[in-house]
Amino acid sequence: MYSTFASTADTDALEDHPFLFAQTEDGILSESISHESVRLKAPSPHMVSMSGLNNFYGHFSESTPSSVHYGDTQELSEASAGNFSGREERDGSTSSGYMNGHERSFAPSPLNFAQSAQMSASTDAFTGGSGSARSASKTNANGVSKVPNGIIGLKATTASSRYQDLEINRKDLSGSPGAFSHNSKSSSTPEVSSARFRNSAKDYGKPPGFRANSSIPADMSWPEFARQCILAAENSRLNPFALHHEEYKLLREHITQAQVTTYLNIRNAILRLWTRNPLVYVTMEEAVGCVRDKRYFGLARVAYLWLMRNGYINFGCVAVPNMHDSVRSKIKTNPRRTILIIGAGMSGLGCARHLEGLFASQCTEQGEQPPKLIVLEARPRVGGRVYSHPLRNQSSSTLPNGHRCTAEMGAQIVTGYEHGNPMNAVIRGQLGIPYHGLRDNTILYDHDGTIVEKSRDILVEKLYNDVLERASVYRNKPAVFRTLEGDRNIMLFGRELADNGGATISELENSSAPLPADAKTTASVTEEKPSSGVEKLAGRAYQLSSGFDPNIPAAESVKNMGWPLRPNTNMSQSLDLDPIAKSSDYPTLGQTMDDGINQYQAIVDLKPKDLRLLNWHHANLEYANAVSVNQLSLSGWDQDIGNEFEGEHSEIVGGYQQVPRGLWQCPDKLDVRFKTIVKSIRYKTQSPGKGKAVKVECTNGEVFEADHIVLTTPLGVLKSGSITFEPSLPDWKQDVIERMGFGLLNKVILVYEKAFWEADRDMFGLLNEAEYQGSLEQRDYTSRRGRFYLFWNCIKTSGRPTLVALMAGDAAHYAEATPNDDLIKEVTGRLNKMFAPTPVPLPSETIITRWNKDPFARGSYSYVGPKTQTGDYDVMARPHGPIHFAGEATCGTHPATVHGAYLSGLRAASEVFEHITGPIKIPSPLVEKKVKIEQPPTPSGLAFKHRLEPQSVTQSPNARRLPDEDYEASIIGAILTEIGERPIKPGRAGVNPFLLFTKDYWHICKKECDDARRKATGDPNAKAAKQEVRLAVGLKWRTASVAVRKPYDDITQNARDNATANAATFKDRVAQWDSDATRIREVYIQAHPPPGGMESLMLSSHTAIELGGGKRLRRI
Ligand SMILES: Cc1cc2nc3c(=O)[nH]c(=O)nc-3n(C[C@H](O)[C@H](O)[C@H](O)COP(=O)(O)OP(=O)(O)OC[C@H]3O[C@@H](n4cnc5c(N)ncnc54)[C@H](O)[C@@H]3O)c2cc1C
Repeated sequence: MYSTFASTADTDALEDHPFLFAQTEDGILSESISHESVRLKAPSPHMVSMSGLNNFYGHFSESTPSSVHYGDTQELSEASAGNFSGREERDGSTSSGYMNGHERSFAPSPLNFAQSAQMSASTDAFTGGSGSARSASKTNANGVSKVPNGIIGLKATTASSRYQDLEINRKDLSGSPGAFSHNSKSSSTPEVSSARFRNSAKDYGKPPGFRANSSIPADMSWPEFARQCILAAENSRLNPFALHHEEYKLLREHITQAQVTTYLNIRNAILRLWTRNPLVYVTMEEAVGCVRDKRYFGLARVAYLWLMRNGYINFGCVAVPNMHDSVRSKIKTNPRRTILIIGAGMSGLGCARHLEGLFASQCTEQGEQPPKLIVLEARPRVGGRVYSHPLRNQSSSTLPNGHRCTAEMGAQIVTGYEHGNPMNAVIRGQLGIPYHGLRDNTILYDHDGTIVEKSRDILVEKLYNDVLERASVYRNKPAVFRTLEGDRNIMLFGRELADNGGATISELENSSAPLPADAKTTASVTEEKPSSGVEKLAGRAYQLSSGFDPNIPAAESVKNMGWPLRPNTNMSQSLDLDPIAKSSDYPTLGQTMDDGINQYQAIVDLKPKDLRLLNWHHANLEYANAVSVNQLSLSGWDQDIGNEFEGEHSEIVGGYQQVPRGLWQCPDKLDVRFKTIVKSIRYKTQSPGKGKAVKVECTNGEVFEADHIVLTTPLGVLKSGSITFEPSLPDWKQDVIERMGFGLLNKVILVYEKAFWEADRDMFGLLNEAEYQGSLEQRDYTSRRGRFYLFWNCIKTSGRPTLVALMAGDAAHYAEATPNDDLIKEVTGRLNKMFAPTPVPLPSETIITRWNKDPFARGSYSYVGPKTQTGDYDVMARPHGPIHFAGEATCGTHPATVHGAYLSGLRAASEVFEHITGPIKIPSPLVEKKVKIEQPPTPSGLAFKHRLEPQSVTQSPNARRLPDEDYEASIIGAILTEIGERPIKPGRAGVNPFLLFTKDYWHICKKECDDARRKATGDPNAKAAKQEVRLAVGLKWRTASVAVRKPYDDITQNARDNATANAATFKDRVAQWDSDATRIREVYIQAHPPPGGMESLMLSSHTAIELGGGKRLRRI
């Protein structure tokens, strides 16, 4: 029949534990790449000094025409997608360069891109003349050595040789269009010269030749520079216009209001350096080169240290300049610290890499040796829940050369690279792994194999979203953090505010003095987040609209969707979810939504097929949360809302596990001890005195002592108690471990000889029948709805005709308990119905995951259970004495994901580092006093001249640029004066009759509620709670007569009509604006020729405004 599990010819393979993947023990390949995948191509020595990286991913050279994506324009990706061969290669470009379009499966490797540009020149230098893969295990002249598993790694090189490579690279690229058109002296990135590293080594601790402006491209307009910096911050999960609340805490006693803008400009500019090329470590000198005036060196230093500590820059597989050799004489002979990281999943590896980077740069400064970092891993492989299981049959692979055929047992989907996914830098920027962009072109098959009509699917989905939105009313409010904004308008133009010193932020906040009249900032604003949305790992995204009005009666709502109402339905009939939502202390999303669906049945005539469709959506949420919706907290299940990334979802070609392998091996191997199962942890919370603070015992008898440990074992493992603690963990930690949910998702993987499905469709869904055929009861669908509810077609990423069927919710447990043969028989029967009359063959290979049985996972990922409390993810993350915690279940902003796990590792690294080295030291004063102020000539007659800040200070080396910027500013001024701002893409109408009504009736209802409360309490000063007033307004609206509601409905309808009309004409208006702007620019340049004969440059130049660059920013 069909086989389970491949035995493999890969003799290097280590085995994973067999209990995870069904019954057999034979050769589950789980470790290291096969020798085929290390088919080394001649790499470039100039790309980056991480030769291990270049060679590890030998497939980079296998570029196919379809892999090149020069044409895609994706504004958001620009800064982060950036170039990867030289920091400034993409100056002036507006396209992302390598975005992955739907029609093309592979993103070109950035390395590949650079390599093709310089391949011939580079090959020999790197390979010592051979020009091909080498197998010698000795170190060659370039410091390249063959490491035992066939990976080429770089021996510890000196900083200067490392960066000389880079220097060559930059030179090689200088001929490429748009790159380095300026002369090298005024390079947009500071010269990465060996001289610089001589400096940093010799004079470590002193500012080694810092130069203001040296990291600001000399020939770029300020608005364009600003645009890039702002995008870089957005792509780093930071609000470009506001301090992160931790930055706010750090700086509030040291800087003034005006300096917030300056700081943000510097911080964003440092991020720009990093996001443009995450292959290259951003040095302190480069960071300091982002200031325009040397008075701000201190600010830049703080920004740099803060960004680095917190993992916003210099994370992942980046080579850290090695300064230890040159400062060895200074290093004290103190006993070396040891840090143990338990678990080599994404969090553990991310943490270890980041610690390595942090200590490499800082310990030497303090004259200490960097601590010993050891990763203890129970399995014989890295990756944990990221595991790409090699298929038995590797022949006739459709993958690019050098890739193994694998199937994903765990993580599979990268949920968008844009808007701050750290995997963007690692996967695309550093490892250059190809990926396949997924299209949301799901079709749904009904349980009998017929295809569900699209119109019905859409109609039911709208109803589902409506119920989800109504249930979301009970969501907890997100936490609000105190922070401070810079001057957005000034920042958009790349300008800085006049800085005449004055009171610091804290002085201002503590005094009763009002904020400066012209300050556009407020003393406390919340951190801004995009509008709400639900977009997890699911094949479909549920987008909750930010303006949903739950007070619109359900009958009206469904009617607007296109549902026919039952006869005699009153249009004001609605749902009342209060009773169910308030019926218990621990209400769940599932119970509440099901009640909503049941109530909807009184309004519309739902058929069994509608119920099957609705339950398919439930199954989709159960996939995203790894648990039945009936076990999800009503108020907190989507507590991470608003943190979604943007951009298409994708899968990694050849397996996601390449990412943890890359983290483990590049730039050089981390010390991971495999098959080392931790069984007990003994620790001291007080200063340990003699000896180390922690003693870790393993099942193989090994004992490790450490100063700190970072525990990244899954929440399921912590819950199971398989690791003992002495003393026991405190109650606050143990309680949260119990309160949090850890769920289950399983997969049934089916490999065929030939695809019988549409090879170009990435996924298809399958509806399930209720326990009782044709039931109209929600509860009858619970147990079966998740069975094979979604099939991923993994042909393009696994290399062989492979389907991955998901078992979600209760079905995940069913998969765990059902024998393989039964599952395969069942799924084959289902597929046979779907693809009838074509007979579906039995798979040639099958793999079934059983994550609950895996002792090193005990489930799939965390969820917010009914008893989970707000902030519990943060409590999970909180350290206890020398024990630090990381892992996806400690990342409240991005739980249950690979990127969340990775971010938690960065966070834990930063904590350990801070524990050892102390907080960032802020010198006093942080900003030096200004010497003299000069007002630059301001362009006359500009409508916006108030936005231009007085330039301060001594002439900077870049002063020659100012006339050009002013000139550019004059042009944009002329454009804005004549035709106003570029049209902004129209959004929703944004008007809602209930909100308008609320505005008018709030005070009336408030008075009524206050009066009622006073009467009830006898307290003449009693006031009603806001919620009470809200409810009263809602009630008044619901019971208002048609005549009362009419004016509000009319205004709303008008606004909707206008929005629709605006949307229809938007394209034309933009085209008109662009053409007018070009005309005005030309006329202006003819009438006022620019200084220095730069007509053609100015004619072809565009500011951010002309490029519509502010478009997204306006949404922030
Ligand atoms: C089926 C499934 C599908 C998923 N799909 C996606 C997806 O599409 N996209 C996405 O972003 N995320 C997905 N995830 C979630 C993602 O895989 C995890 O969030 C992430 O990999 C967790 O990383 P981690 O480092 O926190 O934990 P892990 O990867 O579990 O790492 C912890 C490590 O600790 C080790 N360990 C455990 N016990 C011990 C011990 N006693 N001693 C020593 N070592 C020990 C384990 O072996 C493991 O290597 C999926 C997960 C599963 C299971």
